[in-house]
Amino acid sequence: MQEPLFLKPVFQEKIWGGSRLKTVFGFDIPNDKIGEDWAISAHPHGVSIVENGQFKGQKLDELWTNHKELFGNPEGPVFPLLTKILDAEDELSVQVHPDDAYGLKHEGELGKTECWYVIDAEPGAEIIYGHHAKTREELAEMIHEGRWDDLLKRVPVKKGDFYYVPSGTIHAIGKGILILETQQSSDTTYRVYDYDRKDDQGNTRELHIQQSIDVTTVPASVPAVQMKEVRKGSSSIITYLETEFFNVYEWKVAGKLQVKKNAPYTLMTVIKGQGHVEVDGKEYPLTKGASCIFPDGVKEWTLFGDLDIIASEPGENA
Ligand code: ZN
Repeated sequence: MQEPLFLKPVFQEKIWGGSRLKTVFGFDIPNDKIGEDWAISAHPHGVSIVENGQFKGQKLDELWTNHKELFGNPEGPVFPLLTKILDAEDELSVQVHPDDAYGLKHEGELGKTECWYVIDAEPGAEIIYGHHAKTREELAEMIHEGRWDDLLKRVPVKKGDFYYVPSGTIHAIGKGILILETQQSSDTTYRVYDYDRKDDQGNTRELHIQQSIDVTTVPASVPAVQMKEVRKGSSSIITYLETEFFNVYEWKVAGKLQVKKNAPYTLMTVIKGQGHVEVDGKEYPLTKGASCIFPDGVKEWTLFGDLDIIASEPGENA
């Protein structure tokens, strides 16, 4: 028998962070500038620790190295996925991430393709999603001249929206947005513009202008998300993305939902409601913010309650 691996959240303080990880998710956060909960992570900048079962107290990166059977004996050197909840009390910097080739060559880690499920958004909230430059020369010129209004494409967002953000996409999460992010396990961010903000000590954050110009996709091209919904009684499974990096789903549980796994391991984070999950006849309580991984030995599970869950699996090249 194998158990789901429940993971302890890792909180990250950010200049743009807030307190909704406490007020909305009920987490005991250390201060009111917490921008990110690294819910499922084996990245060295914030590693998840298992909270239950035979692996209690162990780190996810060590399990990946020492217990490959939990993940279907993968060949990759690093756990490829990272799930975060982000609370943007203020705007995040305008940024872009490299692809794997550039990331591995220049930063020694994977590139970063990410996607966002909007858990909540204040009225009028916007993201930056793409740009209007037609050539790389024009992109460089607009950045050097600080013509942000001409360059950046702004998109209004609302609760329940989903955005795919492939590497090379200029983007920013705007003020008042709470997001669940599924991404490649990478912490490489090239900051293009930071609103000339200063921290408590009067310091600005570093910009990475040349790298940003190098890695941005020109002209911008952001694929539309083709969501598919399969109803199962009063519950449903929505597929948002099936990419080489990850597949991402929403499980809407109204009463009961049985899920059969179609990858060696599956990650999930509860974003709304409460209930429990039953695995091999054993029940595990689920509350908002709970995150777990179903390892290779767990082939199916049944969710009970009134729950909204974002789940992900490694894609074929992960
Ligand atoms: Zn990003």
